[in-house]
Amino acid sequence: MPNIELKKITKTFTSINEATKGEIITAVDNASLKIKKYSYNTLLGPSGCGKTTLLRMISGLENPTEGKVFFDKKDVTNMPTQERDIGFVFQNYSLFPHMDIWHNVSYGPIVRNKFTKETEKYIHSILKMVKLDERAKAYPNELSGGMKQRVAVARAIATKSPLMLLDEPLGALDVRIGTALRYDLMKLVKKYKLTAIHVTHNQEEAMTISDNIIMMKRGKVIQSGSPKEIYKNPNSIFSAYFLGRCNFFQCEMIDKNTANFQGTIIKLPKNYTRKKVVLGVRGEKIHINNILKRENIQGTIEFINFLGEKWQYIIRLSDGTEISALKRTPHKAKIRQKVSISFYADNILIFNKPKDFESEKSV
Ligand code: ATP
Repeated sequence: MPNIELKKITKTFTSINEATKGEIITAVDNASLKIKKYSYNTLLGPSGCGKTTLLRMISGLENPTEGKVFFDKKDVTNMPTQERDIGFVFQNYSLFPHMDIWHNVSYGPIVRNKFTKETEKYIHSILKMVKLDERAKAYPNELSGGMKQRVAVARAIATKSPLMLLDEPLGALDVRIGTALRYDLMKLVKKYKLTAIHVTHNQEEAMTISDNIIMMKRGKVIQSGSPKEIYKNPNSIFSAYFLGRCNFFQCEMIDKNTANFQGTIIKLPKNYTRKKVVLGVRGEKIHINNILKRENIQGTIEFINFLGEKWQYIIRLSDGTEISALKRTPHKAKIRQKVSISFYADNILIFNKPKDFESEKSV
């Protein structure tokens, strides 16, 4: 079972597209990271940020242009995929259509000449775990998308490979089925003591399934850590926005621990020495006040959305900034009502103001 380390990995492609022929595309840019064995990891980021390319370099399906890949301190950068002992799960299931479920799942041990009486028992137990033991004789075209993906996961487990790589495994499934399968995936990875690396652009999926999230943007690894660590201490405007849709206030500093947001004075939880700052506040930390306090930030309620377990209030500030406040119980404020908002200093995240705030935040 490997601990995985990537050291300064870069991958460039040369475009063969007519319009951009010969242009160099940097898919992964100087990425370094460590993956602990037995952990569930997600590569999270917007479309085109390099997640799949990074996964393919871990698998050996793609060679890095620069940098090295280590499994348990052994340099595997040039090792062929079939020697890396990896189980794969893809978005499109990739099952053999002419084989029933039993043969799809036992394919790995059979081709590796490792099919014994023990294997037979093992595969029965896996099919039971993925709730398909009664469908072992069915063919892939007789199964739903969720069932097909459970077969693909069972097939990866049956290879007994300690590392499972999953490329958008829930991307093609309906939300309800995908959400249920998240928990199954997590349970299976823990039960069979696997290390999983799972590509997704869905922040909620990453939050619920991961021990460790690796946030990517434009080919770079921006931050990695547990969902809680990244949510509580995002190291950038991008991390704060992509994981949990933080609210931002672009301010001028008045002195080392006081900022000015459009005339409202905001006390910071710690000293900050630059002239301009961006403050981040999570939606659940924003208070809505019906009484318009002059010293507070003011805005108008534009939408009220019922999200099931919480209510979302979209508040438009006079400069156009949109604030999303989340409440467990409905607030008295109504649509089009003017309100003021406030938050405690302890709940403020502090970021350097970038040259281009929108592009920094953009995904
Ligand atoms: P998505 O979530 O949309 O699948 P991703 O984060 O997995 O995206 P990649 O598929 O790794 O992103 O692609 C990263 C960048 O590299 C993109 O700009 C993509 O167009 C480019 N790219 C990937 N593979 C190739 C290739 N074989 N040739 C040229 N460009 C490529």
